[in-house]
Amino acid sequence: MKKHILLLATGGTIASQESGQGLTPSMDSEALLACIPQVRDLCDISALQLMNLDSTNITPEHWLTIARCLKEHYDAYDGFVITHGTDTMAYTAAALSYLIQDSPKPIVLTGGQKSIALQDTDARRNLYDSFLYAADDSSCGVHIVFNGEVILGTRARKERTKSYNAFSSVDYPDTAIIRDRKLIRYFDERPGRKDPVWYDRLNTRVLLLTLIPGLDPEPLEGLTGNYDGLILQTFGSGGLPGSDSGRFAEILRMWISSGKSVVMMTQVPYEGSDLMVYQVGQRILKNYPVIEASNMTLEAVVTKLMWALGQTGDPKEVRDLFCRPVHHDRIGC
Ligand code: ASP
Repeated sequence: MKKHILLLATGGTIASQESGQGLTPSMDSEALLACIPQVRDLCDISALQLMNLDSTNITPEHWLTIARCLKEHYDAYDGFVITHGTDTMAYTAAALSYLIQDSPKPIVLTGGQKSIALQDTDARRNLYDSFLYAADDSSCGVHIVFNGEVILGTRARKERTKSYNAFSSVDYPDTAIIRDRKLIRYFDERPGRKDPVWYDRLNTRVLLLTLIPGLDPEPLEGLTGNYDGLILQTFGSGGLPGSDSGRFAEILRMWISSGKSVVMMTQVPYEGSDLMVYQVGQRILKNYPVIEASNMTLEAVVTKLMWALGQTGDPKEVRDLFCRPVHHDRIGC
């Protein structure tokens, strides 16, 4: 029997047309489907237009709206395809991975570097491939399907603004590839659960600070009241200027003693942090209860911290939730 897949359209370049003031999402879900008529041989499709936004304008509120819509329709469909702008697709994919855990049904995000209306677009292939993946018996969980790659929602990052291979799977292999309209699986991904675990709360009071050499940490001092979580994107394997005795460390102490959660991660794109390697990191890790992100992506760190802070205000529980692996978001740490 043919699978029944629900398409949720949210906008992005895939649905964009020239407005005279730059590309704007304007095609609806039915117009997208009309560009790939052969997909009806693969599966039955229903479609919903959830929003029509450039993904620059997508916020955590939209992630919750998408998750609510998936929950509402979960039992009625075999899988889900979400069309989305590529710019913040990796954030949405990571957020949905935390809001909908262990989904036995596939939830696929896709888009295009060019509008689906153009002749030389990548969007038609991406959309068709997404339905191919979503309609397969062994598919489950949240993934991005793009340029023939199937990437875990917790591992994806946009790395190119123009090329068709826009996304990479960071520190984790693609779970499958699609070549000539054939799905080639590298992993068996069947989840143990019959139903996903749904969450509906995020706390967005999260601040990200990327260090640059010589950065003055002083402005951070006045910001403790505005945020519940701080992400410090440090250099290399990780550490703070001045180690545990500088002004950075004093301000860090202030944040932690006022009950805030502090995550330390590296700004190096691959292979993650290891605060134990250098004195600048080890002393911080030993003397301050910071949370180490290890090899998580920035998108996963931001959304997981929002999710964890959304479940509890207790920093110890935030740490436990954050450090518990979800959908292979942190491995070997
Ligand atoms: N600015 C667009 C968006 O993220 C880019 C794209 O979809 O490729 O909505």
